[in-house]
Amino acid sequence: MSPTNLKISTGNDQNILEAKDIGTAQLINDQGKKILLQYVLFVPKLNRNLLSLPRLFKHTFSISMKNDYLAVVDIDGDFKLSAHTDNNLLELKNSSLFAINSGASYFSCVSEIDWHSRLGHPHHNYLSKIFPGSKEIECEICMISKMKHQPFESHLKTVSSVLESVHMDVVGPFATQSISGASYFLTIIGEFSGFKTIMFLKNKSDVISKVKLFKTEAEKQTQKSLKVIISDGGGKFNNQEFTEFCSDSGIIHHFSPPYTPQNNGMAERANKSIIENARCLMIQSKL
Ligand SMILES: [Zn+2]
Repeated sequence: MSPTNLKISTGNDQNILEAKDIGTAQLINDQGKKILLQYVLFVPKLNRNLLSLPRLFKHTFSISMKNDYLAVVDIDGDFKLSAHTDNNLLELKNSSLFAINSGASYFSCVSEIDWHSRLGHPHHNYLSKIFPGSKEIECEICMISKMKHQPFESHLKTVSSVLESVHMDVVGPFATQSISGASYFLTIIGEFSGFKTIMFLKNKSDVISKVKLFKTEAEKQTQKSLKVIISDGGGKFNNQEFTEFCSDSGIIHHFSPPYTPQNNGMAERANKSIIENARCLMIQSKL
């Protein structure tokens, strides 16, 4: 990357964006295949990456719709990109863009508060194990998150065996995807054992397949059957496919208000730290 002061006009000439750097970047698709992009502009005020279609291909370029929201972009017959058609834009959900030889100034200045935020707002005791001698941070997000606690009485009966009742929650989407392209995670907490399972999801719609996977494995390993699922009433759990899965498997599905693990007996304690971290991350991401 090398410094530039290119001006880009958007919409009308009054709206000028400034590019600060120009250089080469790598676009990596969901199969891990890479292509090199030349003349990539770094525009600090843009909050998403834009690709110029005519610059992407030499010979052939095609877009085909796989279903209502998923499209596949084929570049010169040997590079494919999966895209969602959100907001009438083609959004590359599982691809990533990396600047090559990027100036160290963009990414390397990470402070204690950055680490505290990135690690899910842990207590100072945990952070000081990673960074001995670090100062205790006054984090605004932690304060907001802790203020939101409301007193709750558990109203669900206590359980006596594993898989009798599990609490589920999906957290995300996160602005930054994981290396494998996941934007969400599903937490499953056994009310009896407090055992936590975390599964990473690329799309919200993956919830049902992950829950089925969990059910098969957990039932096989424990010789018990899953009886009650407790989740919030969000669309990820409150849909026809999930309802059919529960009724076909004889599972009772309880809905609790979102992010109130206190409604959930034993899982309350197990879930508390995950939800607290998640709540911090959601406040931080302005979700
Ligand atoms: Zn914090």
